[in-house]
Amino acid sequence: MVKQEDDFKKVISHAKEYGYVFQSSEIYDGLSAVYDYAQNGAELKKNIREYWWKAMVQMNDNIVGLDSAILMHPTVWKASGHVDAFNDPLIDNKDSKKRYRADVLVEDYTAKIEAKIDKEVAKAHKRFGDSFDKKQFLETNPRVVGYQEQITTILKRLGKSLEKEDLVDVKNLIEELEIACPVSGSRNWTDVKQFNLMFGTKLGASADSAMNLYLRPETAQGIFVNFLNVQKTGRMKIPFGIAQVGKAFRNEIVARQFIFRQREFEQMEMQFFIRPGSQKEWYETWKEKRMAWHLSLGLGAENYRFHDHEKLAHYADAAADIEFKFPFGFKELEGIHSRTDFDLGSHEKFSGKKLQYFDPELNESYVPYVVETSIGLDRMFLAVFSNSLVEEELENNTTRTVLKLPAVLAPNKAAVFPLVKKDGLPELAQEIIDDLKWDFNVVYDEKDAVGRRYRRQDANGTPFCITVDHQSLEDNTVTIRHRDTMEQQRVAIADVKSIIHKEVDMKTWLQRML
Ligand code: ATP
Repeated sequence: MVKQEDDFKKVISHAKEYGYVFQSSEIYDGLSAVYDYAQNGAELKKNIREYWWKAMVQMNDNIVGLDSAILMHPTVWKASGHVDAFNDPLIDNKDSKKRYRADVLVEDYTAKIEAKIDKEVAKAHKRFGDSFDKKQFLETNPRVVGYQEQITTILKRLGKSLEKEDLVDVKNLIEELEIACPVSGSRNWTDVKQFNLMFGTKLGASADSAMNLYLRPETAQGIFVNFLNVQKTGRMKIPFGIAQVGKAFRNEIVARQFIFRQREFEQMEMQFFIRPGSQKEWYETWKEKRMAWHLSLGLGAENYRFHDHEKLAHYADAAADIEFKFPFGFKELEGIHSRTDFDLGSHEKFSGKKLQYFDPELNESYVPYVVETSIGLDRMFLAVFSNSLVEEELENNTTRTVLKLPAVLAPNKAAVFPLVKKDGLPELAQEIIDDLKWDFNVVYDEKDAVGRRYRRQDANGTPFCITVDHQSLEDNTVTIRHRDTMEQQRVAIADVKSIIHKEVDMKTWLQRML
């Protein structure tokens, strides 16, 4: 656990030191759970956004994009259920005065039991060696089966109580499990209360005529209210999807995990409109497709898992998370939700406008059902960034810090170095950059010994370093060094571009999804 915490601290300080993520308004001591993306972070974020957009919009004939406004008519949030139901159950510890999400306290408790199961598995694996059958062990080992039953019972009860809004029982559960505050260690809790997560604001100049608005807590509703506009003007036929990337705002109760849980963040959402009755099939299809997208980045299949929801949101008939192994454990990265006709149906009621599709094959009109995929861009950033940061032991007993970002997402694709700052080498390096920069972000570095420059680019995540030396002037070749293998090759300057292209092209990476 200590190691995990240390790893996470390293991730946060590396993100700052190398110009990826800064605390917002840092010179004023920061604003809690709000962050800024700096020179490298903005590029990494842009590349992740593009990787998603290409996979979802460009590669699917039946999915189109949208960029709707953050501010929306306030009735939207009545219709969507956010005014009445977008609440988190909060609980305070009276001794530490720290505030927690009651459901998260219980879930963290079950995560500890899960860690015990993992320990038992590792022990048994060691004992039985190659003949170890994990599935059989999980199903038959009495201790493990007991742990599993404990987890299921706790989560079922939590799900039921939250669904019934029985906050007294949520508190009872916390007390029965003897959950203590991680800060004070005490079990002196307040009652559980509901807290609405939407940020309010006002539209209009004079106080009496001002209209109360909300900053959107999700991008999805912008898609629903534009459903018919897009369907008609784009002549879309069901099944079809609308995708959008944009800011969302939530007044999160606890926000202690860097960019994992922010009060202002970016979502990449896609709503897929389908015939009623076909939702099960599409829900499974999108679960599979989204997992394939994640796996195409090569962060390791063992770092992902599905988590099917026990407690369903008011709009869903099925829901699953894709969880990722962050430095603080497996947590939600993306949600796939079968939202039924809840949203469109509700907007029909509240607006008095028909939001129906005429299906020429069935010769009838209906309110479409929706399957949604919703991923946090910032969480994806953290997944990629934390997974890529490694300390490597080298053969000569030294270590190097390297940010092994998938090359397709790296902010800079190459750095070009003149071996020395004279004899025309800087000029040739600049010529190479002037050609490459039409295709990629490329940086120039002439300071310090080449070894030091390599280390700097390793820590920055740059996949290629190109060194120009005296031989380059004679035969038009350079050294190209690969970040992950540290291998160096002598190549013709004319070939540099195609070598980089091969490694960073989105096409090559996205084709792994097929
Ligand atoms: P959580 O249970 O972690 O609060 P959620 O289930 O409320 O998340 P959704 O409403 O399904 O999240 O939002 C979809 C996605 O948006 C999430 O999978 C996550 O990646 C991202 N997201 C949600 N809240 C935040 C936040 N406060 N900061 C950053 N990303 C977020």
